[in-house]
Amino acid sequence: MKKKSKEFLKEDGLNSHIMPKRAKFRSEMAKSFPSPYRGGGDSLADGINEAIRQLDKLKPKKKGGAAFLGTNPALTIDFENVKDSSLNPKMSTSDEVIKQVIKLFEGMPNWGHPLTMNNVNPQGNTVAIVAAILSEIFAPNILEGEYAWNTHQAELESAGILANLAGWKPKEAGCIYTYGGSGCWTYHLKYALTRVLPDSRYKGVRTDAKVICSQQAHYTMLNSTDWMGLGMDNIIRIKTDSDTNAMDTKHLEIVLKDCQAKNIPVASVVCTMGTTDANAFDPVEEVRKLMDKYPNPKGYGKSLLYCDSVIGWSWIAFKNYDFKKNPLGFSETVLPYIEKNYNAIKGIFYADAFGVDFHKTGFSPYISSTFVYKNAKEFETLLSRGASAYLQPRSPYNPLNYTLEVSRAATGSIAGWATLKFFGHEGFQSVLGGILENKVYLKNQIEKKFEMVCVNPSDYGLVTLLRIYPKGMDARAQFNSELHDPAFRGALIKHNKMTHAIGDKLFEWFRSGKKINGQCTPYLSFSTGFRTTEYNRDMKDSEAVIYAVKMFPMNVNITPAIMDHVLECIVAARDEVTIIKPIKKELV
Ligand SMILES: *Cc1c(COP(=O)(O)O)cnc(C)c1O
Repeated sequence: MKKKSKEFLKEDGLNSHIMPKRAKFRSEMAKSFPSPYRGGGDSLADGINEAIRQLDKLKPKKKGGAAFLGTNPALTIDFENVKDSSLNPKMSTSDEVIKQVIKLFEGMPNWGHPLTMNNVNPQGNTVAIVAAILSEIFAPNILEGEYAWNTHQAELESAGILANLAGWKPKEAGCIYTYGGSGCWTYHLKYALTRVLPDSRYKGVRTDAKVICSQQAHYTMLNSTDWMGLGMDNIIRIKTDSDTNAMDTKHLEIVLKDCQAKNIPVASVVCTMGTTDANAFDPVEEVRKLMDKYPNPKGYGKSLLYCDSVIGWSWIAFKNYDFKKNPLGFSETVLPYIEKNYNAIKGIFYADAFGVDFHKTGFSPYISSTFVYKNAKEFETLLSRGASAYLQPRSPYNPLNYTLEVSRAATGSIAGWATLKFFGHEGFQSVLGGILENKVYLKNQIEKKFEMVCVNPSDYGLVTLLRIYPKGMDARAQFNSELHDPAFRGALIKHNKMTHAIGDKLFEWFRSGKKINGQCTPYLSFSTGFRTTEYNRDMKDSEAVIYAVKMFPMNVNITPAIMDHVLECIVAARDEVTIIKPIKKELV
């Protein structure tokens, strides 16, 4: 005789002797969901606590450990067969699966480790991580007011804080948290196309409008122009100055004039504010003047000025810093670096929009990027699409009407906002300035070494790039010749190969837990062409470029002593790759 389901379900859902299997599994499953009620019996807090303790065991001991998690440096995925996987017939337990999750972290780079300095990959700060986790538990959806409720404050207030820093009217500005600096680039392009080609929203992009950016611009310009349907061929690259790597405004003027003469609309000009390796900032104010001088032809809207400031944005926190009194006590060498970066970034004032990556120079977890726009009314009206039939406006703020995404996690907005609240001006200032203190120390140490040369000495950014030469070779003289003299092309290429080999050797050492002077070796990276030689300005010769070992000391645990150790490791790697192995007699 069939029983009605009600008979199986007591209040606690348990009635083991007559309970069908499905009810048993369901009640077990329920224990592994966060409790909706206060107090004991919630698996979540215990689960997180336990998982973090297990993750902690993967970290190395304070001194001597390698800069990756766990003990196995190998890539253990069986790439050939990994997809040959199917759903288990049986239910698992939460403990078992959390264990498997922890295992995925085996071998991961340890971003907070003082020996990690490979790229602009800082460790997220604890406040932002906690904030992000909380937003996963109660999952606000910031697409509209009803599902976001008060958590919308994070996005709205971020817009105000960032606009204020840019010198804009905060109440008139807005921001959208989105998927990375590439998402910000895409948002700007949509905004630009909609403004310049008003028909494009319904008829599609049917005009070859141009997007103008410098030769140093980030390659995500390809993603955005491709996915937006404008086409990658509609990017125009502007030459950059050989010293500063910034956009050459004379060349920009020629291009703008030419577009105007040919009746070609410009969708946008992008100023890159802080390139990854060269820390180049484009001159926004001058660009704005040129854009005003050469407006789009009749029938097209006004072109947009976007600042791709996803790396450089946080220097704006030095707004109002008293560089004379220097209240935070930066060293005299570092102070002009900071001032220079601040003076460059403050140009975002002239933009219509700019991008912010909190996961780069905002020391927050992924993904917490935000696209900030000056004129919220214009942006939100231009892109508005009418409301959805099944979502009712319960608050005045409903970005789903104009965003690319529909559902948006609050994770990034809460992490970014929490970081702004936590750091304040002083926090950003001390962390960014602290990186420069380490960098300047490193640069001074390199200057003392005969066989090493810093190849970006006049760069005010966070990266140090160096070349090391064979034993006994005068690095400065050699590099100078390789940079300027085509007769040294052969030597340049040979030493590029050596630099590549040193980079690979250092990676191998980092991964194998190799120790030098009792300490593990650093996790660095290298560039296979951070700039070209002087005689190859047009980049026609793909090999006449400068390779360099790269140090990006982003995290807060790095000290000058670590920097000394890093240089010793680079020398050791150079020795290792330049040793001429004796040829065994019997093999000849
Ligand atoms: C990192 C970066 C991007 C891409 O950003 P993601 O956050 O990686 O998507 C774009 N532009 C610049 C200048 C960058 O440094």
